[in-house]
Amino acid sequence: MAADTDHWVFYFDPNRCIGCHACTVSCKQYHGRGSDADDWRTVTHHEEGTYPDVNDVPISMSCMHCHDAPCEKVCPTNAIEKRESDGIVTIDREKCIGCKYCGWACPFGAPTYGDEGLMSKCNMCLGQGPGAGADADSTAKHKQDGQAAVQPNCVSDCVGGAIKAGPQSEVIREASEAAANRFKSDNGRVIVEPFAEGSAAVDSTGSSDIITPFNAGD
Ligand code: SF4
Ligand code: SF4
Ligand code: SF4
Repeated sequence: MAADTDHWVFYFDPNRCIGCHACTVSCKQYHGRGSDADDWRTVTHHEEGTYPDVNDVPISMSCMHCHDAPCEKVCPTNAIEKRESDGIVTIDREKCIGCKYCGWACPFGAPTYGDEGLMSKCNMCLGQGPGAGADADSTAKHKQDGQAAVQPNCVSDCVGGAIKAGPQSEVIREASEAAANRFKSDNGRVIVEPFAEGSAAVDSTGSSDIITPFNAGD
C-alpha cells in the first residue's frame, strides 16, 4: 500500500462505466494529442459469450501512479520521478532518450511512445501538452491550499461518474469497504470497486467470470 496518504490515486467503479470513451477523448483534447497518438487513458472491452448473448464489461485505465513505480526503476536517465509531494509519476522529456525501457517495465502499458520520439503518459493533468508536468507545482488542477482540488479531465468529463482522483486518504473514505480493503491488502495501485451482483461480469454463483485487468487476481 502506498505509504503516503496524501499521494494522489485514481478510483474506478466498473459498475458505473458505460464504455463511452469520453474519458479517453477528454484526455487527448486537453493534452493536445492527435487522434492517431496512443491513448494515455484507454477503455478496453472485456467480453464473453456467443453472439447475440454477449456480455461486455468496459474498463477504463491509465497510468496508476504506482507507489513502487517499476517504470522509474528501469529508466537509465532518471527521467521518471514519483513526486514526493503528491505521488504523481511524471516523465521529464528533457531527460528522456526514447529507449522505451519504461514501456517494457510497466505492467499496464501506460507509457506511450511517439510524441516527438519520446515517451509520454498520464500526468494527472499536472500540465497541458505531451509529457508536461515533470516540474509542475500544484497547478490549477491540483490546488492544495484550502481550495477544492480540480479534478483531472478524465474525471470531470466521465459520463458515468465512474472515475475519481484525489489524495488517497480522501478517495478511500468515499470507496466501499470492499474496495478499500482490497486496495490496502494488495499492491495499492488504484482503488477499484468490485463488480456488483447482477453486473455482466458476475455469474449466477456470484463470482466474476469475465477476466479484466482489475479482477485477474481475484
Ligand atoms: S507507467 Fe506503469 S509502472 Fe509507471 S507508474 Fe504508471 S502504471 Fe505504474
Ligand atoms: S523511454 Fe525515456 S522515460 Fe522511458 S526509460 Fe527510456 S529514458 Fe526513461
Ligand atoms: S467516460 Fe466514464 S463511463 Fe465513459 S468510458 Fe470513461 S470511465 Fe467509462
